[in-house]
Amino acid sequence: MLPKIPGLYAEQQLASTDLPYEEPEIDAIFLSHAHFDHVAHICFVDPKIPVYLGAGTKLFMESMEDTSSFCDYREHEYKTFRTGKKIKIDNITVEPIHTDHSIPAAYGFVIHTSDATIVYTGDFRLHGTRKDLSEDFIQKAKGSSPDSLICEGTRMALQEKRKNFSEQQVEDKSNQIVASTDKIVFATHYSRDIDRFRSFYNVAVKNGRKLVIPPKNAYLLSKLIQDEHLDVPDPSKDKHILVYYKRKKSGTYDDSDYYLWERQFMDKMANAEYVHKNQKKLIMDLDFFQFGELIDIRPQRGSPFIHSMSEPFSEEDIEDEVLHNWLDHFGMQFHQLHASGHLNKYQIGQVVKEIDAKKVFPVHTENAKLFEKITNRVQLVKREKSYSV
Ligand SMILES: [Zn+2]
Repeated sequence: MLPKIPGLYAEQQLASTDLPYEEPEIDAIFLSHAHFDHVAHICFVDPKIPVYLGAGTKLFMESMEDTSSFCDYREHEYKTFRTGKKIKIDNITVEPIHTDHSIPAAYGFVIHTSDATIVYTGDFRLHGTRKDLSEDFIQKAKGSSPDSLICEGTRMALQEKRKNFSEQQVEDKSNQIVASTDKIVFATHYSRDIDRFRSFYNVAVKNGRKLVIPPKNAYLLSKLIQDEHLDVPDPSKDKHILVYYKRKKSGTYDDSDYYLWERQFMDKMANAEYVHKNQKKLIMDLDFFQFGELIDIRPQRGSPFIHSMSEPFSEEDIEDEVLHNWLDHFGMQFHQLHASGHLNKYQIGQVVKEIDAKKVFPVHTENAKLFEKITNRVQLVKREKSYSV
């Protein structure tokens, strides 16, 4: 499924393919942020190619490797950067600039070459809590008078059917739900979306409740507190956070049932029995794959469930059907509240016009052609083809 690019992949990864191994001619790879669709394939890349990434992105990747058995990005020379750093590689200089996205430590790049300046947006938005970061990026991009703009277009669509809120609206609406019930409130969101974690954390604090999170998320927070720019609570110390431990094979919550990385939060343990007894004092982060826990938790009927993720792509979505079966079985109340990580199509139009590059390359989109409604400078791209700037 990966494009056949010579001199990119690790020798061992090519063993069973028809692409012959070549010594790398690529000097560096830059990662914009730690979402899977941007980092996962780094494991196929030749370890001789250095990988540049934000300091925060590195922490996310380490946390994923530590807590997941299928996640292994393999050996590379990782070089971290922050906004303001200029990285010189041969005669190219890359300037990473922070943006606001649904994961912290997201960056866009301004790439200065001897012939031309190229801007890559990464994934970004203007309705998050750190809109100012994306605005900084847009100003820097514009100021570089770019020849080319490589622009994401996730939400470029003729019609947007899904409901989307700003991050502040998600927090406010969640707060209304929690403030108006004396039952437990469940919420599910992408675990790496720290802004969303913070929204639910704030709601818990405002309502005098504790937020119950899975060990994986607690571990991620314990990594991210190493980054002083990220301002996240310490799950081992924060009195508003509890960590949910599932009952495992011994049936007694014995240390030895859990992975080493899981054990460090055991004195903050909330188990099913605790959650059952303290329902009105809790907001619980419960993702779809942990729904089996509801059998032990036995929530009161009418407990709200906030689905704080993208809506399903279609009505035939099986996971969505299964989710609703669970909620119906326990008589839970469904709420859809989400803020996207991406600009909407009107904002894309404004940003493309503002940056005013001579050429625009739409990427990360199913509707590249719609960019032609914004500007006549669009260059549509095909897989495995090269384009000159
Ligand atoms: Zn992303």
